[in-house]
Formats: sequence, C-alpha cells, structure tokens
Amino acid sequence: MKNILIIGSGIVGICTGIELIRRGYSVTLMDPNQPGSQTSYGNAGVISDSSLMVINNPQLRKSLFQLIFTKQTSFRYSKFFIFLRLSWILRFLIFSHKNHMEFAAKALRELQVLSLKAHQELIKKTNSKNNISKPGWLKLFKTINSYKKYYLELDVLNKNKAEYTILDTEQIKKQFPDLEESFFKGVLFKNSLRVKSPLALSKKYFNYFTNSGGGYLKEECKDLNYKKGRWSINFNKQNLNFDEVVVAAGPWSKKLLFSLGYDIPLAWERGYHHHFSIKKKTNINPAIHDIEGGFVFSSNGSEIRVTSGVELNFMDASKNEIQINESIQKLHKILPLDKKLTEKAWLGSRPTIADSLPMIGKAPKHKNLWFNFGHNHIGLSTSAGSAVILSEMIQNKKSSINTDPFSPKRFNL
Ligand SMILES: Cc1cc2nc3c(=O)[nH]c(=O)nc-3n(C[C@H](O)[C@H](O)[C@H](O)COP(=O)(O)OP(=O)(O)OC[C@H]3O[C@@H](n4cnc5c(N)ncnc54)[C@H](O)[C@@H]3O)c2cc1C
Repeated sequence: MKNILIIGSGIVGICTGIELIRRGYSVTLMDPNQPGSQTSYGNAGVISDSSLMVINNPQLRKSLFQLIFTKQTSFRYSKFFIFLRLSWILRFLIFSHKNHMEFAAKALRELQVLSLKAHQELIKKTNSKNNISKPGWLKLFKTINSYKKYYLELDVLNKNKAEYTILDTEQIKKQFPDLEESFFKGVLFKNSLRVKSPLALSKKYFNYFTNSGGGYLKEECKDLNYKKGRWSINFNKQNLNFDEVVVAAGPWSKKLLFSLGYDIPLAWERGYHHHFSIKKKTNINPAIHDIEGGFVFSSNGSEIRVTSGVELNFMDASKNEIQINESIQKLHKILPLDKKLTEKAWLGSRPTIADSLPMIGKAPKHKNLWFNFGHNHIGLSTSAGSAVILSEMIQNKKSSINTDPFSPKRFNL
C-alpha cells in the first residue's frame, strides 16, 4: 500500500486525506496548527455550486480606475504590495477578458457540482447535518444600478445551468423579516449550503479521517527531501519516508514550494471577520452578501459573523481593520447588533492564483509530488471535489470532470 504525506490540514488537506484513504492509501496529514484552524476557520461558511464568476472578468477592467482611486469597503490594496508584486497584478489583469471568464465558469461549475455532492456525502458520514443550513447563499442588491451590473454574472449562471431564484423587495421582506433595511432585488442560490461553524465541520471531517486510519504529525514541514523517487522528512529526529507528497498548504503553498524551485503565481486576498451578539434572535438560513455594502454576514440565531471583502496584501503584513469596521457600521443598519464577541478581528488570506483557478494536479518538475491549493474565495466549496479529482490523478484513473483548467502545467513554473 502506497503511503502519502499531505502537507496542510485545512479543509482541502483533510478532504484529500479522507478521499485517498477511501481509495486504499495510507495517509498522514502534517500541520503545526490544529486541523481547520487557519483560513478554513474564518470564512463565511458557504458551500456553493454556483460561485462561477472569477474576479478577473471583463468588468474588472472597466472598474479599474474606480478601484484604484476610490476607497471601497469591498476592496483595498497595499501600494507596497502592488509595487513589489506588479508581475502578479499584470498577469491577473491579462486574464480579465470574456473568454477566460467563460472558460473559468465552466470549469468551476463542474468542480463545484462534484464538490457539493462529495460534501453532502461527507456531511452524512460525519453526522454534521445540524451544522448545515439551506439554502445557503443569498446576494442582496439595494439599487437597480448594482443589480444591472449583475446581469453579466446572471448570464454566466444561465449558460452553466446554475439554479437560483430572483426575489423582489416584497419577497425579500417576507422571507427575511429580520432584515431592517429594504433591498431592491435578491438572488437566492437554492442548492448551496451554509456551514454554521466551518471549524466544527473541519473537526468532524478530521475525526472521520483519523477514525478511518489516517495519521497526523503536528509539526511544520520545513525540509522536504527527494531522493530516488521517494520523499522524506525529519520528524522528532527520525527520517520518515513517503511514496507521494501532496502540498495543500493554502496561502503558505507559495513559500513552501519556493524551496523546491517553483515560482507559484499566488497572491493573498486577505479578509477579516468579527462576531456579534444580536439584540433579537434571527432566523436567517443563508449567508448574505450585501453587494453595495461589500461584505457578507451570517446568523446563528443569537450570533452574527461578519466577513469583509478583499485586501490585497502580503499575508504577514500588519492588520488594517478599516474594511471590517466599515462593514460593521453598515451591518448595524441591517440587523440590531449588540455586543462585539471577538476582541480582535480575525484575519485570513484567500490564496489566489493569477487566473483565479485552483492548482490541482501533478507537480511539473518532480515525481510523486502533487498540488492542491489556490482555492481563493471558494476553497470550502471546492475542497471535497478537488480531493476527488486529485485522488483520481494519483490513482491514474479517468477523471470525473475535465481537470485541464486546474493543471499546474498551465503556468511555466
Ligand atoms: C474572509 C473569508 C471568507 C471566505 N468565505 C468563503 C466561503 O463562504 N465559502 C468558501 O467556499 N470559501 C470561502 N473562503 C475561502 C476559503 O476559506 C479558503 O479557500 C480555504 O479555507 C482554503 O483552505 P486550505 O485548506 O487550502 O487552506 P488553510 O485552511 O489555510 O489550510 C492550510 C494549512 O496548511 C498549514 N501549513 C502551512 N504551511 C505548512 C508547512 N510548512 N507544514 C505543514 N503545514 C503547513 C497551515 O497551518 C494550515 O492549517 C473565504 C476566505 C476568507 C478569508
């Protein structure tokens, strides 16, 4: 039986571990942090089959001037980062055309449909049903103008047969009476799920992994060595050997792979969250994206999590809480927030490849090395499906979907 090391126990690493064990491999996860405690902890909890629109779409070019020169809650950037990572920025912008938008949407739809199904099976197997609410994803528009800008995405959704319902002002009021602001339109994604506690889901999946025979090394992988087709690491002064290695280190994957000679075109779309108690209990199933507001919020009865938009910066740069504070101010008008429950804002980094597609597949320069990272805004959603396709590749089996769009070979690494 081949033994496989997975570096990183975020939701992507855990799902990959479960899938590989199911296919008969011996699998060990390695991570200095608790499973699921990093980027996979602080997200908005949406498992979507319809998050198809990449940020580098034709609208990005049109709104570039506004993005650069006006301060927005949904997007901020560090000038220092732009200056030092200009090549990534230019690459990202080059992809913002119609053909890429359509190509990426088709690929992401296939991956997300596969992933939703795989999550549903895992949710059943891990008894996680009480951590899930449905429908899980609602976009709200305050004005006709912002809704009109969404027509391009609606077109992409239609072309890929994504299912959604459009709600008007009265329907929004009726279905979500706890919202104190009025909205012009809503788009509700019926099949998407919302995970009330992403950390609890990761923990359940991780326990399932270890109960199925998976191993865990609680340490940072610093020295990955390759000799004669086998990989080894030093752990507790011992040399451990593996047949295959999977890198699933989320936003850290760039740094980790640099030491093996890979220059991964990955940048960090940072995001923050805070938790609040709420004056009156709410009953809102989906996570809600306030499009004009530029933030997402979700409710667990008496507690609200609010997550901020994108801050383009180095992942270890100091925090800048302006966006999350602006989001909170705006959210006060929508829900009767009470006490802040989190002392400090949580900060995580969405790992984003220049074409906004994850990197899933065989490493171009090494034998028996595999990548599964770069899941940007949708890694909770795509984790379970990425685990299926990567495992199929490792097994050398025919893939469930077209995996070319995710291949590491698409870049000259
Ligand atoms: C504000 C925000 C909101 C989001 N909302 C959503 C959402 O609603 N739906 C959705 O689908 N996605 C969402 N995302 C994106 C999603 O959270 C990420 O894409 C996903 O969590 C990435 O998972 P991962 O396992 O790749 O990374 P991580 O969860 O970061 O896991 C990587 C792991 O690798 C470990 N590691 C790093 N270096 C090493 C090393 N050298 N050795 C060993 N281990 C190492 C780390 O400790 C970490 O545990 C959101 C992200 C943010 C920031």
